[in-house]
Amino acid sequence: MKTIIFIGAPGAGKGSRIKTCVDHGGFTQISSGNLLREAGYDLSSGKLIEDSIVISLVKKAIEKAEGNIILDGFPRNLSQAEELERQNVKVDKIVYIKISQEECISRALNRLICPKCQETYTKTDYHPPKVEGICDLCGEALTQRSDDNEQTIMKRFKVFEEHTLPILEFYKSRGIEFAVFDAEADDDDKILDLV
Ligand code: AMP
Repeated sequence: MKTIIFIGAPGAGKGSRIKTCVDHGGFTQISSGNLLREAGYDLSSGKLIEDSIVISLVKKAIEKAEGNIILDGFPRNLSQAEELERQNVKVDKIVYIKISQEECISRALNRLICPKCQETYTKTDYHPPKVEGICDLCGEALTQRSDDNEQTIMKRFKVFEEHTLPILEFYKSRGIEFAVFDAEADDDDKILDLV
C-alpha cells in the first residue's frame, strides 16, 4: 500500500489530478478540507483549523481506507507532518504542484463546487459543467466555496507559503521521492506515470 501526498496552493489543480488517479483505480483520496466541510467546520476565514481536530479526522480516514492513499491538503504544516511520522504512516511520494499567486487567485475565483458530492468545475472552458450551474454527477445546484473570494484566497496563499511550503524541505530531508508539476503546464495526464 502506497501513501502519496499532494501539495499545492489553492487552485493548483490537485483535485483534477487526484481524480484521474482515483478514476484509474486503486487509490483512496483523503481530503482534509472535505473532511472538515463534512464535519460542519466553518472554513470561510482561510485560516488553518487546529491541528488536533484535523489530525483526528485524517487518522480515522486513514484507518478506514483501502488500497493506496492520496492525502489531499494534509499535512499542511510541519507539526502535522511530524505527527504523521509519529503515527508510522510511511510516505512514498510527494506530488508538488507549483502555482503563482496571480494564477491561484484567478482559478479560485472561477471555481464552482457541488455542495453534495464535492465535484469541482470551472466557469471557464476548462471542465465547465455540461448544464450551466448543475453538477454533472448528481444534479445538485453548483455553488462557490465561501473561501473562494479574493481576500480569503490571498490569505490562503500566504498561509500556504508560510506553513505548508516548509514541509517540502522536511520530506526532502527524509529522502522521499518528489514529482513536481507546473500548474500552468498542460500535463495533467502525466500524473498516472508518476504515482
Ligand atoms: P482545502 O479544501 O484543502 O482547500 O481546505 C479548505 C480549508 O480547510 C483551509 O483553508 C483550512 O481552513 C482548512 N484545512 C484543510 N486542511 C487542513 C489542514 N491539514 N490543517 C488545517 N486546516 C486545514
